[in-house]
Amino acid sequence: MASSTRMVKVILLGDGSVGKSSLMQQFVRNEFNSESFHTIGVEVLNKDVRVGSEAITMQIWDTAGQERFRSLRTPFYRGADCCMLTFDLTDPNSFNNINMWRDEFLKHASVDDVAAFPFLLLGNKADLAEQRQVTAEAARAWCRENGNVPYYETSAKTGSNVEDAFQQAARMLLQHG
Ligand code: GDP
Repeated sequence: MASSTRMVKVILLGDGSVGKSSLMQQFVRNEFNSESFHTIGVEVLNKDVRVGSEAITMQIWDTAGQERFRSLRTPFYRGADCCMLTFDLTDPNSFNNINMWRDEFLKHASVDDVAAFPFLLLGNKADLAEQRQVTAEAARAWCRENGNVPYYETSAKTGSNVEDAFQQAARMLLQHG
C-alpha cells in the first residue's frame, strides 16, 4: 500500500534578479535560461526528494514583485517549513537586503520558534567569479550572527551546489519537525 508522501513548503526569498526562479528551475528541471522569468505573483514547483529513508515532496515557492503583490504576502509566507534567503554574489545591495527579507519573512510567517526555524543563505551566480563583490567571509559572518545559518555559494547556471543546498534544506526541515 502506498503511503502518502509528506509535502513541505520551501520559500525562496531575496531581491529581484538574484536568481530565485533560476535556482528553482535548475533544481526541479535541470534547466537554465539566460532570460529573466519575470515571475508574476507566485510560482510553485514540486520536486520529490529523498532524505535517508524518508521521501518528501518539496513544494518550492518563488515570488516576484512582492512590492506589487502585497496582498499575496501572508498566504505566500504562511506555513513555510524552510526559507532560503538568496542574494547575488555580484550585487552587494542584494546581500545588504538579506536582513530585511529575513525580518519580512518572520513578520508574516507566524513562526513559533524563531531560533529553531530552518533558514539557509544562498550566494548565487558563483560562476561570475570576476564580478564577485560579496566575500564568503562577510556571508559567513552574517550566518554566525543569525544562529549559524548554513551558507551555500550556488550557480543556477552551472548547477553548482544547487542540489546540495536543497538537500540541506530538506534535512533541516525534517529535523525541525
Ligand atoms: P529572480 O528575479 O530572483 O527570480 O531572478 P531570475 O531567476 O529571473 O534571474 C535573473 C537573471 O540572472 C536572469 O537573466 C538569469 O538568467 C540570471 N541568473 C540567474 N542565476 C544565475 C547564475 O547562477 N549565474 C549567472 N551567470 N546568471 C544567473
